[in-house]
Amino acid sequence: MKLLLIEDDALLLAELKPLLQRHGYAVEIADNGIDGHFLGNELNPDVVILDLGLPDKNGLEVLRDWRQCGNRTPVLILTARDAWHERVDGLQAGADDYLGKPFHSEELLARLQAIQRRVHGHPANTLEWCGVSLDTDSQSATAKNGERISLTAIEFRLLRQLMTRPHHVHSKTRLSEHIYEDDAIRDSNVIEVYINRLRQLFGKAFIETRRGQGYTLRAEES
Ligand code: CA
Repeated sequence: MKLLLIEDDALLLAELKPLLQRHGYAVEIADNGIDGHFLGNELNPDVVILDLGLPDKNGLEVLRDWRQCGNRTPVLILTARDAWHERVDGLQAGADDYLGKPFHSEELLARLQAIQRRVHGHPANTLEWCGVSLDTDSQSATAKNGERISLTAIEFRLLRQLMTRPHHVHSKTRLSEHIYEDDAIRDSNVIEVYINRLRQLFGKAFIETRRGQGYTLRAEES
């Protein structure tokens, strides 16, 4: 799950980035409004955390420009604590939720999950597909036979991406974009290795290869 964090406060960035990574997000960062606006269109993130007070272009303008141009990426805005009018402006500009600074990290994580649930229509923090379930809080899975399986960070991100949109055919390139934040280590061939690892864990037929297109979850074992 790719998350774009647009924030100019270096201390907050240093705190949030590792926190979000630990919770399974591939985090991209922009520390000003112009880069943030560009990356929000370019990277196609799953969710954006957008500070409103940003250098070069403020967060509200960034958000308005995206929405005016049809960019519907879910956005959580960070606002100054007492500035209720900022929250109203943000929501009117098309934000999905807001959080006042300072905030507790648990609340940020819970709100991000709530946004994902609304966007993807999942009722709980559990993704289900044909007997396999994935708990996005504990980042662990349960196989068809009821066996509890702990996942590495990469396995978790990959499985979550597949299970969030189970009917979609996911290309290797797109999957690697959602799993690695760093272009330098992004290698779509490695995805194949992790796909095979997930097949070992959840059954060979769990993930189907569509030649030349990518991967999709298979509805029934055949
Ligand atoms: Ca700021």
